[in-house]
Amino acid sequence: MPDCIFCRIANGEIPAKVLHRDDHAVAFHDLAPQAPTHVLVIPARHLSGVAEVDEASAALAGHLLVVAANVARDLGLEDSGYRLVVNQGRDGGQSVDHLHVHVLGGREMAWPPG
Ligand code: 5GP
Ligand code: ZN
Repeated sequence: MPDCIFCRIANGEIPAKVLHRDDHAVAFHDLAPQAPTHVLVIPARHLSGVAEVDEASAALAGHLLVVAANVARDLGLEDSGYRLVVNQGRDGGQSVDHLHVHVLGGREMAWPPG
């Protein structure tokens, strides 16, 4: 998707502070962090959001969770804990239409979320 900002980060056209990259996923620091640690994990190929995940992309979606957990561990968040968030659509607060998992940590999270 040529106009998709996260596709452009995935293919290196737009710089990002990348923590992990493999054939299927990229993890990078969020530009506007909402916690001391705020990382985004995205599939390398375009999926508009979690609503587009189906059985064919289920392994890819699962891989994003593996990467998210590994990144959180690498950043030392495993003991204190962290939160994964996937926003979907307008009411979910999704602002970038390329599937991404937020990894938030370094402070205690509130519940329920806003
Ligand atoms: P959403 O609101 O769609 O769940 O999350 C999108 C996230 O992408 C936001 O937290 C926003 O700060 C982040 N973001 C938007 N554009 C860029 C960018 O160009 N680079 C990085 N690193 N993060 C971005
Ligand atoms: Zn995209």
